[in-house]
Amino acid sequence: MKVEEKIFKGTSVVPGIGVGKAVVLIITDADLYRMQIPDFRVENEIERLRKAVDIASARVEKMRNKVSKQLGTELAGIFEAHIQLLKDRNFFIKRVEKKIKQNYLNAEGAVWEVVEELIKDLKGLADRTFYERTRQDLNNVAIYLVEALQGVSHHEINEVGEDVVVVADDIAPSLAIHLGRKGVKGFALEHGGVTSHTSIIAKSLNIPMVIGVHGITKSVRPNDHVVVDGRRGEVIVRPTQEHKEEYLTIVKIHKRREVEYLDELVSLPAVTLDGIEVALLANIDLAEEINLAKKVNAQGVGLYRSEFIFIEKHPYTPTENDHYNVYSKLLKEFSPNRVIIRTHDLGGKKVAQDVIETHEDNPVLGLRGIRLFLAHKDILETQLRALLKAGCETDNLWIMLPLVSSVDEIIIFKEILRDTVKDVEEQTGKQCKFKLGTMIEVPSAALTAKHIAEEVDFFSIGTNDLTQYTLAVDRNNEHVAYLFDSLHPSVLKLIKETFIAAQEKGIETSVCGEMSCDPKGVVYLLSLGIRTLSMNPRNILHVKRVIRNLNIGEIKDDIMKVLQLSNAKEVSSFISNVVKDKIGLKL
Ligand code: PEP
Ligand code: MG
Repeated sequence: MKVEEKIFKGTSVVPGIGVGKAVVLIITDADLYRMQIPDFRVENEIERLRKAVDIASARVEKMRNKVSKQLGTELAGIFEAHIQLLKDRNFFIKRVEKKIKQNYLNAEGAVWEVVEELIKDLKGLADRTFYERTRQDLNNVAIYLVEALQGVSHHEINEVGEDVVVVADDIAPSLAIHLGRKGVKGFALEHGGVTSHTSIIAKSLNIPMVIGVHGITKSVRPNDHVVVDGRRGEVIVRPTQEHKEEYLTIVKIHKRREVEYLDELVSLPAVTLDGIEVALLANIDLAEEINLAKKVNAQGVGLYRSEFIFIEKHPYTPTENDHYNVYSKLLKEFSPNRVIIRTHDLGGKKVAQDVIETHEDNPVLGLRGIRLFLAHKDILETQLRALLKAGCETDNLWIMLPLVSSVDEIIIFKEILRDTVKDVEEQTGKQCKFKLGTMIEVPSAALTAKHIAEEVDFFSIGTNDLTQYTLAVDRNNEHVAYLFDSLHPSVLKLIKETFIAAQEKGIETSVCGEMSCDPKGVVYLLSLGIRTLSMNPRNILHVKRVIRNLNIGEIKDDIMKVLQLSNAKEVSSFISNVVKDKIGLKL
């Protein structure tokens, strides 16, 4: 049967082109029954468990050997703990057997009950790092055992090769990091949002990505050739030989152009035709971006998303040392320029669920950002200690809080911060130096910015969440993606309100959401008076080129009229027209 080329339309997230063979990823949650068994099944159930222990042990050993060969012994060490747990009959397996016998529980149910009991017993441990590691090890071992009991066997991520396009429903941020680092050529996803964390990772690692590609997981078969065309938001499945070669040529040309382009703009200042200087800073999520940020002359880090340490370490919880190493490197690399490190903005998706261990029906409106942080002081204190210790060594630490919705949260945070500063200063004998600021990304914060400005040294506007919460449009939901537009006048009004409040108090407002790399957004922000923008380092030179062609004095009065318009579309074409008519620039 002849198989035809098929083109799918989606939404572009990362604009490159990726060509590779398809790996289809389907993630399912298995149903787990916890049930009573009759007396006569007890021996049989124990036998099932023993066989599962053997199968799981063999699998984990195989994984350890493979990871050790491919990624080194340090990472393979993770599996060592799992092997020990499976071998140490007294600590774990014997208790599961006892549970089956005494409570007449099926093996799967008994495994989970024992894991829950052990975690509860360990909860009081003073060594939080040991507790976290053991909790995660126990959870992992339980998963291996249940998979073995149910005869589930699957390939592991380390088997995915480089010349691959990953086709999936959606993928978790932690998996996107692993796959991206393996060098996969593209992502084609049925779901997701342009500013979701998975999309942010694809941008950080510069992996072409198209989302909202409905029906692709059913249509593509493993090993089919796939092209992800992030420029057009298309995915081509089983391209003809001719098409495939065309795309491969474009990939080569793009690589060459990008280098030439970098050379041209990198040493020029970001200054408008009428002499307004703009500071262009980098948003950093992963260590890979540090070099690029320096190469394009970023004037510091305007947003380091520290939750990525959690996402990278997942399923392990990072220790104080893990945090310290990352912060110390960032601060030193960019010194004397500022490095704004945002405290963990965990929440909404999986990683937070692992931390809080509760179910939330609407997590985006739930325990996220500073709320989760204040509810889990152990996580907060570990991070703060690491930040303050790293900050003692340089003079450029700026700490920033995520998802603040009211000034009270900052006041509570500052009390905890004061105690931690005292501890760290006593411990290190050094003085802690830093600035404290907040994200403005919730409408209530923007509307009370005047009060918040009393408590902090700077603001940074997160236009991604500000848009999500103002327009009531889930930033991760492709069904409503057409409504997600930061140029909506309501969002622009909140930005103005925030900027004025900061100006009155004499503190700086920067913007670190995606709006800071949208040319029309940049025109609005500069016309308003904002002079610091932070963005993915890959966009810095593009934005610099726009800035160098603007004359803000000529256009700003007209541009501010967008606040009278009714919707984002009108704003978009209004800005284009003003810029074209007044200064002859096509955006
Ligand atoms: C934002 O919301 O605009 C922002 C920069 O934060 P994040 O994208 O990490 O939520
Ligand atoms: Mg945000």
